[in-house]
Amino acid sequence: MGKGNGIMMEETVSVAQRRAGRAIVIGGSIAGLLAARVLADVFKEIIIVEVDDPPDGLKPRNKVPQGHHSHIFLERGQKILECLFPGIIQELIQNGSIVTDFTNDLEWFHFGEWKKRFPSGIKVVQQTRPFIERHIRHRVDFIPNVAFQYRSRVTSFILSDDRKHVQGIKMRNESSHLEEVIMADLVVDAGGAGSQALKWLNVEKDMGEVVHIDLFYATRFYKTEWVDRGWTNLMISAQLPEHPYAGVAIPFEIKKLALL
Ligand SMILES: Cc1cc2nc3c(=O)[nH]c(=O)nc-3n(C[C@H](O)[C@H](O)[C@H](O)COP(=O)(O)OP(=O)(O)OC[C@H]3O[C@@H](n4cnc5c(N)ncnc54)[C@H](O)[C@@H]3O)c2cc1C
Repeated sequence: MGKGNGIMMEETVSVAQRRAGRAIVIGGSIAGLLAARVLADVFKEIIIVEVDDPPDGLKPRNKVPQGHHSHIFLERGQKILECLFPGIIQELIQNGSIVTDFTNDLEWFHFGEWKKRFPSGIKVVQQTRPFIERHIRHRVDFIPNVAFQYRSRVTSFILSDDRKHVQGIKMRNESSHLEEVIMADLVVDAGGAGSQALKWLNVEKDMGEVVHIDLFYATRFYKTEWVDRGWTNLMISAQLPEHPYAGVAIPFEIKKLALL
């Protein structure tokens, strides 16, 4: 049985014995946490190297600027999350996530007209991104062979002499500026949009053209009384080129974190 509250992973001794080697995950955000969960079944030791400070409650993290903006879970994401962490969707909902019917609860202005709303049974789970990350992180905390290394920036890969294999990483502590090398059997890059992996592999120039799309977001939170308008979510799509702006209004969790 894994450490912790027993919801994580039941394991036989033979499964634990079959685990071998070390994996490093660059980035302790959503992709990094999920990668660590998958690797925990196979590797003896997983180290998540994250440049940011450890999360501070439900505040968006500095290195994840998109964390301030609206995020929802579509069905496929819910299924994958549930498969990796059984019961987590129910836990999110119990703690305050909002469940809506994608086609019935969304008032959507698209291509010059309001879309017809109808019940589809396609459920969307709505909450802020830090709320999701906190729940996933909470589960990963209970996986005994996963460790976190915060305030540590991966600065390059350690490559084999023939430069065909990644054998580890070099990282720099953000406070002490000390550099450290960690060797590994597998390195997973979950560094997000700011990933430097192509540069470290020296293949950046072969990866084609970069197109700057000049898209930006701004988000603001409002506290309102509940008013029944017949819908929960509102989306106004852009209509290019005349109307380049889009907008969305969606409710999020009422934080009930006593359970966490
Ligand atoms: C406005 C907006 C709305 C969105 N809405 C949705 C939505 O509703 N649903 C949805 O599924 N997705 C949505 N997305 C997309 C979603 O935000 C991203 O796909 C997702 O956050 C990517 O997660 P990630 O874990 O891959 O990367 P990130 O969350 O960007 O995390 C990367 C992590 O790696 C760390 N890191 C980077 N480089 C290094 C390094 N060298 N060393 C150590 N650590 C490093 C960073 O500090 C960070 O913690 C939205 C995006 C935006 C901008």
